[in-house]
Amino acid sequence: MRQRHRPWADDFLRDNTGLIIPEAEEKKGRWKEVFGNNNPIHLEIGTGKGQFIAGMAEKNPDVNFIGIELAKSIIVMAGSKVKEAGLDNVLLLHVDAADLQGLFAENEISAIYLNFSDPWPKKRHAKRRLTFPTFLEQYEHILQPGGEITLKTDNQGLFEYSLVSFSEFGLKLQDVHLDLHSIEDPENVMTEYEEKFSAKGQPIYRCRAVFA
Ligand code: SAM
Repeated sequence: MRQRHRPWADDFLRDNTGLIIPEAEEKKGRWKEVFGNNNPIHLEIGTGKGQFIAGMAEKNPDVNFIGIELAKSIIVMAGSKVKEAGLDNVLLLHVDAADLQGLFAENEISAIYLNFSDPWPKKRHAKRRLTFPTFLEQYEHILQPGGEITLKTDNQGLFEYSLVSFSEFGLKLQDVHLDLHSIEDPENVMTEYEEKFSAKGQPIYRCRAVFA
């Protein structure tokens, strides 16, 4: 996602520490306490400008959502969206997803969403893909038993790689779609990238992978 300089980003981060949580690792194992309820927590990695997480949170008020986004100029866009919508079941973390186990305790998360993750097409960059086995190890640790990963992408290469990676790791594949928008799915919440690529007529791939 293209990053723009947003001069108001630092002010926004400073003024909204209840939404974009600083020093998030201190909250490890206590996220339900931070939300102030016992609802399940769903995690989106690479939240972008926040359309998906805001839409999901609105549709599912009994679920808490945490969005992780690396880019400062982008996470503040997500923050503004969530704030404007007045959602109290969303928190955002301005961190790299590389150390999820430093952020979440074992079994603390119920579901993970990977939406239009960077495909890293070069073989030598494979370990940066969010479905590389080192990431799957972390997901397995933080997800509760039976927890699932939902992957959506426009990128055929990343999709094929991920199906193999999930299977080799022992995850059970469910609902594999090669053209998600050819079916009616009232539950589907579109991301910014999903809107952009489907408007160009590109198929959207989706699957769910479940830890047995
Ligand atoms: N999910 C959004 C969507 O579907 O519209 C954004 C997709 S964009 C291609 C990928 C996003 O993931 C970017 O905003 C990028 O900054 C973020 N990202 C990539 N690697 C990340 C990482 N290791 N940790 C956190 N965010 C990451």
